[in-house]
Amino acid sequence: MQVGQTMTNETWGQVREALMQRVGKNNYTTWIEPLRLARLKNGVAHFEVPTSFFGDWVQRNYADHIRSQLVTAGAEVHRIEFAVAAARPQAEAPAKPAARAARSRPAQDDDLPGAPLDARFTFDTFVVGKPNELAHAAARRVAEGGPVTFNPLFLYGGVGLGKTHLMHAIAHELQARRPDLRVLYLSAEQFMYRFIQALRDKQVMDFKQLFRSVDVLMVDDVQFIAGKDSTQEEFFHTFNALVDQNKQIVISADRAPGEIKDLEDRIKSRLQCGLVVDLHPTDYELRLGILQQKVEVYRNQYKGLQIAPGVLEFLAHRITTNVRVLEGALTRLFAFASLVGREITLDLAQDCLADILRASDRKLTIEEIQRKVAEHYNIRLADMIGPKRLRTIARPRQVAMYLAKQLTPRSLPEIGRRFGGRDHTTIMHGVRKIEELMALDSQLADDLQLLKRMLQG
Ligand code: ADP
Ligand code: MG
Repeated sequence: MQVGQTMTNETWGQVREALMQRVGKNNYTTWIEPLRLARLKNGVAHFEVPTSFFGDWVQRNYADHIRSQLVTAGAEVHRIEFAVAAARPQAEAPAKPAARAARSRPAQDDDLPGAPLDARFTFDTFVVGKPNELAHAAARRVAEGGPVTFNPLFLYGGVGLGKTHLMHAIAHELQARRPDLRVLYLSAEQFMYRFIQALRDKQVMDFKQLFRSVDVLMVDDVQFIAGKDSTQEEFFHTFNALVDQNKQIVISADRAPGEIKDLEDRIKSRLQCGLVVDLHPTDYELRLGILQQKVEVYRNQYKGLQIAPGVLEFLAHRITTNVRVLEGALTRLFAFASLVGREITLDLAQDCLADILRASDRKLTIEEIQRKVAEHYNIRLADMIGPKRLRTIARPRQVAMYLAKQLTPRSLPEIGRRFGGRDHTTIMHGVRKIEELMALDSQLADDLQLLKRMLQG
């Protein structure tokens, strides 16, 4: 093919075909298709682009591809230049300079499609304990707004363990310390929603531009985009673009990157590149700490309301599921006590929170008991329900019967059924036997203590 200096747009058409193979359909549609070859002169190919951001992006990511394809097609190209088409009205990004100028606002930039931040979710109100200290330290580091040391920061953990709280805290802190930075916080669901909206309104360029113009991007609950292919794709590109520009990214999810099903492998591996930190389930001390802090807040709100000693300890001990439930319990307790004008006592707590306390009780199954006891006495699980009468097997079996009666609401016949269809009188005999022996045999009493503690968590 002899094109040289007078390469036509027809040739560019052929080159584009080749580029599509090279960069993939998606990237092609987004970045190559909108390019217009203006002229080719003195070894420089001049392209018109819709926006300067677009030009920068293509220059950084695709210029080499484009050049090499042009050369393959026979054109003499040493360099590629991108310029915003002068004639066309500018579809530049939403007014970034204006947003930067109006810095007095405490919230996020208006032009950023972020989610509102909860004013209560700050570092001041975040209680640090063993289970979350690493996550907290990493979040603090990011909130300093210094040079990016790990990217992304990936926070994961079960529901209600403080992921969203930490992300909001980072955003608040950055706004205070580094008002020059554009901070964008949103949920993965909102990201998807915005993206779909942009597709529908044919504003994908604006969308891309916007997301690539932030300094700190925080996406909450990223597991949400698993299985949502085009959103994942877009997220991946946004992610890469920001990482390439050395912009900080913070991600949260309900599990580790590798464990999110239906998430593309390349995304998983990118997510693992930074610092992956998990928030562990709360322990008793942390729960108590959180309650104590909350009580301070309520003391001001409900003046004169008394709380009896031991109530907070009781709640911290009994409500282990998640912090949100724990907080809800305390809120209800204060509201109720102030309504009836009574001191918050253990009795009041038990009445007022009966449903929460019941739901928080771990539902222990007879199978779990059998398994733990079998493990403890080093016998086979099958022997728990089998017919063997050997003492070394019969005794642990009776221990399991006793614990089943003690720790579950099951009736004797129900327990009998789960012990290989034994009669309820057999179960009763077993339970009595253990009760008798316990008084005489301290080793057995210790075993039972230990097993109970393990089973009740
Ligand atoms: P997640 O996003 O992990 O599901 P959230 O950040 O929404 O959890 O936290 C749930 C609730 O528990 C919020 O009200 C939050 O303020 C509170 N919370 C969680 N962890 C802590 C903590 N360590 N200190 C104070 N409050 C906490
Ligand atoms: Mg959350």
